[in-house]
Amino acid sequence: MTVNALLNPQELLAKLTVLFVEDDEEIRQQMVQFLSRRFKQVRVACNGKQGLAAFREEKPDIILSDILMPEMDGLSMIRAIRDEDHHIPIIVLTAYNEEQYLLRSIELGIDRYLLKPVNTKSLSEALEKIVSNLWQRKEREEADSYLRLLMDIHPNLLLTTSDDQVVYLNRAFLHRLEVDQLGDFLSNPTGLGELLLDQHGTPLSQAGGLWLHRLEELAQNAPLVYLKNPTQPDEAPLALVVECRQMTPPHCQLFTFADVSAIEGQLKHLEHMAFTDTLTGLANRAMGQKSLTKEINRCQRYNRTFSVILLDVDHFKKVNDTYGHEVGDQVLQGLAGLLQNTVRRSDMVVRWGGEEFLVVLPESSFQDARMIAEKLRSNVAAHTFSTVEHITCSFGVAQFDQTLGMQSLVAKADAALYLAKERGRNRVEPI
Ligand SMILES: [Mg+2]
Repeated sequence: MTVNALLNPQELLAKLTVLFVEDDEEIRQQMVQFLSRRFKQVRVACNGKQGLAAFREEKPDIILSDILMPEMDGLSMIRAIRDEDHHIPIIVLTAYNEEQYLLRSIELGIDRYLLKPVNTKSLSEALEKIVSNLWQRKEREEADSYLRLLMDIHPNLLLTTSDDQVVYLNRAFLHRLEVDQLGDFLSNPTGLGELLLDQHGTPLSQAGGLWLHRLEELAQNAPLVYLKNPTQPDEAPLALVVECRQMTPPHCQLFTFADVSAIEGQLKHLEHMAFTDTLTGLANRAMGQKSLTKEINRCQRYNRTFSVILLDVDHFKKVNDTYGHEVGDQVLQGLAGLLQNTVRRSDMVVRWGGEEFLVVLPESSFQDARMIAEKLRSNVAAHTFSTVEHITCSFGVAQFDQTLGMQSLVAKADAALYLAKERGRNRVEPI
């Protein structure tokens, strides 16, 4: 059958085959006459057993059947047919208007139930209604299979949903999930909600509500999701830009996932480069400012405090003048390593300027910061650097309070540092 939506129901019927099952010869003859004028082909059977064999052999488009027949009754035949084909339209024609038949017919998924003697007008109407539905379903199936074909040859990961259920994943997606068959995936579709993560690394299945709703929300607002490798959970997840398109019929959606892992990797690298000091590998001034702003905001919101240490190499100009810039650079690299190894894990060491470093100490009082500055000072003074052997640093310490902004906090530490220089260097000065 080919789909042609322009045909009317009578024209559609004329393209179909029907199986008519009836044990009464007289009725059979009358009905065959009626059906032959409407269908392309009419196949007749005299009981359920023959009817079942004819169904298997001929694959008719529609079945009309009596109920009470010898050898195998109509309902038994229909049950056997339904096991093999959930969709084939079936009309029951019977003289028995009994509730039990009606109920059993409904259970078996019968499309219409008509009483004998058959009113041909009612039968025509029933057939026309059925054929329209049949055609719509066939059209939808053809459109679906065409869509699936297109999805399967597409390199992106694609999935379709209907009424909040996943109905199809394309080949690229199944391959990524290391699943051979769509059926294997559909037996546990929520597993995908555990593998898909949002930007904070939270599985979509943990967002509360349906993970498909969360996916739709992300597609509309922040269209980046991550897909964990199901068999290699430690592997970096794929970064995917997700889009959601509404399709016809309603409540059907197509999600497309474009792999942007390579671009994201490059962006992360660029971001790292943009916030890292190339000589020392420490955070650079831009990163330091970013962290200070974040720390100040946090402390303002939660009424917390933190401290900073600003330090500077004493007589650094002399190092450069005496040994050259290359040795000066080595001193800065050595000092950076020493500072980094002395502070706590939660502290951040920033190369603030040429030979000037800033240490950000979250959740640290003025006293904590002074102690750490003193430890840094003595470690630097005791350290043996290559070529220059010994250097010293001066330190200014300042604590954040709610009246300070970033610039005034650093200015406060700078004033303390100036005092340390004034008072003879290799010292820690608070203000
Ligand atoms: Mg009968």
